[in-house]
Amino acid sequence: MEATHQSDPACLFCKIVAGEVPGEVVHVTERTVAFRDINGQAPTHVLVVPRAHYENAAALAAGDPEAAAELLTSAAAVATAEGHDDYRLVFNTGAGAGQTVFHTHLHVLAGRALTWPPG
Ligand code: C5P
Repeated sequence: MEATHQSDPACLFCKIVAGEVPGEVVHVTERTVAFRDINGQAPTHVLVVPRAHYENAAALAAGDPEAAAELLTSAAAVATAEGHDDYRLVFNTGAGAGQTVFHTHLHVLAGRALTWPPG
């Protein structure tokens, strides 16, 4: 399936967006859904995903810039709702950069000291 199709029936995050696989959803907007990472790496570790299926952030930005912008506003809303002024936003893009799920997702990490550079 092309990355810009609306939904991929084989995609885990498409299934969470559709409610077919359970996720702990913490924030929703017209174009995005935010849910807790199943393997949290910080007290707050939330993934913000577009409802539509795009394989990575670059594909989303090219295909739906409004949704790409909404990911950022949703991430900020999640951080604020969880009481964090300091937080880290991450898009892993490509397997070599650590991407394991090929449906765009913005990691929101907060609630502990975050070192730099990341591993
Ligand atoms: O950036 P990357 O593709 O590695 O991130 C995928 C994230 O999806 C991981 O942090 C993983 O814990 C999370 N995940 C999840 N629920 C699943 C499968 C993966 O939250 N069922």
